[in-house]
Amino acid sequence: MITQQQRVHNFYAGPATMPLEALERAQRELLDFEGTGMSVMEISHRSKEYLALHEEAKSLVRELMQLPSNYHVLFLQGGASLQFSMVPMNLLGGDRTADYLVTGDWAKKALKEAKLFGKTHVAYTAEATNFDRVPQADDELTLTPGATYVHLTSNNTIHGTQLHRFPDTQGVPLVADMSSDIMWRPFDVTPFGLIYAGAQKNLGPSGVVLVIIRDDVLERCNEGLATMLGYRTHVQNDSLYNTPPTFGVYMLRNVLSWLKGQGGLAEIERRNLAKAKLLYDAIDAHPDLYQGHARPDSRSTMNVTWRLANEELEKAFLKGAEERDLVGLKGHRSVGGCRASIYNAVALDSVRLLAEYMDSFAGQQTK
Ligand SMILES: *Cc1c(COP(=O)(O)O)cnc(C)c1O
Repeated sequence: MITQQQRVHNFYAGPATMPLEALERAQRELLDFEGTGMSVMEISHRSKEYLALHEEAKSLVRELMQLPSNYHVLFLQGGASLQFSMVPMNLLGGDRTADYLVTGDWAKKALKEAKLFGKTHVAYTAEATNFDRVPQADDELTLTPGATYVHLTSNNTIHGTQLHRFPDTQGVPLVADMSSDIMWRPFDVTPFGLIYAGAQKNLGPSGVVLVIIRDDVLERCNEGLATMLGYRTHVQNDSLYNTPPTFGVYMLRNVLSWLKGQGGLAEIERRNLAKAKLLYDAIDAHPDLYQGHARPDSRSTMNVTWRLANEELEKAFLKGAEERDLVGLKGHRSVGGCRASIYNAVALDSVRLLAEYMDSFAGQQTK
């Protein structure tokens, strides 16, 4: 049996670490899922065992996020990137306009796809300062009255910024890419018409994307789309129109059942805040060596991004980190430097070790 101590401290941005408990459960159940004598990958997605799993995964999403009954939970494929297209394909066209908050590279990609399907308006952009901030107040936004939806990215994985409050859109449904911070804390879903999240950051392995869609938004979806690209198809068929990514849904179930066992979103928020504080304190304690990329008011609790004084020091820092089994810390090429992704499944102890290493590395430089 592999213990947590034998695994490395994994700070990859995605795919990312999963709870050991969820992986061990998969290991135990791999050869014989629910007494079937088969693995979950080897049984029909119409079998009663698979359908029970599918229901459990959906109800864990509902329960953890406290979804009202007018929301549908879907497990789709094509990643968050296909949602960039499916959202406007289903909701734009004619004289409808969608507002986009351009807070990072993923938001830019979402906007690029929307432009293919209808009218868009950039209601906010932070590109001029390389996405080091997110809006703090609604008067920073230029929302279109009567827009069809307002699209936002709740957490900007690459730049390490996060929206800590959602804009008041006067009833216009919010559509959110929550790929890298879904379920990091409890929040009120009612202003959201549609939420999507690739599973590989906070929910499980790649290959599944969670989509949550509200009834009134579903009603407005365009007809006559390619069957697989219409939300109606997937709602009408309970995500079982075609073969779903069964192993991915199984792992997502394991991860969510772990999350529930830990105390749900309120408890995970407490831990996430503690983890983020350790790293931001380490950055702020050594301003000559570490420069955080995000403005303090926009800092992410999921992806912490910072640069060192020069590239040589960055290399030395990353090398020393590897030697301590602190893995996956190289920053994304559009920001450079370092990035520590500290999703729900990253243990407080791993983050503490990283913070201690940051302090000791800084100590060595001043000698
Ligand atoms: C990772 C990520 C994506 C891309 O997800 P894919 O599943 O690879 O398409 C999109 N948006 C955000 C915010 C992400 O973090």
